Amino acid sequence: MTWLMVGLGLAIVVVSLLGGVLPLATVLTHTRLQVYLSLAAGTMLGASFFHMLPEAVELGSPDVLRTAAIGLLTLFFLERFFSFHHHETGENDPHEGHNLAHGQSLNWGAAAVGLAVHTLISGVALASAASADLARGPTLGAGTIGVFLATLLHKPADALTIVSLMLRAGVSRPITHLVNFAFSLMVPVGMLLFWVGSHWLGEGGSVSLTAHALAFSAGTFLCIALSDLLPELQFHTHDRIKLSVALLAGFVLMGSTAAWEDTSHAHRGDSNGKPNQ
Ligand SMILES: [Zn+2]
Ligand SMILES: [Zn+2]
Repeated sequence: MTWLMVGLGLAIVVVSLLGGVLPLATVLTHTRLQVYLSLAAGTMLGASFFHMLPEAVELGSPDVLRTAAIGLLTLFFLERFFSFHHHETGENDPHEGHNLAHGQSLNWGAAAVGLAVHTLISGVALASAASADLARGPTLGAGTIGVFLATLLHKPADALTIVSLMLRAGVSRPITHLVNFAFSLMVPVGMLLFWVGSHWLGEGGSVSLTAHALAFSAGTFLCIALSDLLPELQFHTHDRIKLSVALLAGFVLMGSTAAWEDTSHAHRGDSNGKPNQ
């Protein structure tokens, strides 16, 4: 199980690295970027509502939803003061001015701090989802797969942000990719922090930690998804069908992993009588 988690963490590191190469390898038009962001945001919304929030409530109590609100606000204020989540830095968006105005005030040093915290939290999200699965049954289930897929799909967006900001600031490509690599390592670091905290708290505390960490992460997922979706909604009207289909595709993907989980849970219930603790 530990090795599986190591594998999931490594996969995210690799995808982050590829995400950093993306702006150099392809012409990332505004529309392509927005279609991708809509798809990624749909999976994050779906992961939050289909997996993380229900599992956090099931493991803890409805009170954990307050922790979700704290997670949402944490990411909101992080973005307000560190501006780490602007995926478009102005250059590739010819038909408008608001991104450019923001782009000029973006500073990759400040963005780096915000992005480091954001990436660390996505590691905690993955580890808490795995821990929630293991609290309910013998194997990792759709909750972990859902959070993993949402994180995997979202990571190139973060890599894109930091790499384009640094390249624009005149930093050399090797240093840029090294920094991007260092960022991706924050995912395994976040996972490790969760496991250490969980062992330190012991059996009873660890379930409560899992419930709250999962709810907090769900709140951060909601904030990230909406901050990727709302600027496009507010400022543009192009490709509305294409973007809506991408958003729904991500959301439905998560819904179907949840449906698959329901059947596998029913199956577990038949063979075990009750979920393993
Ligand atoms: Zn992000
Ligand atoms: Zn647009």
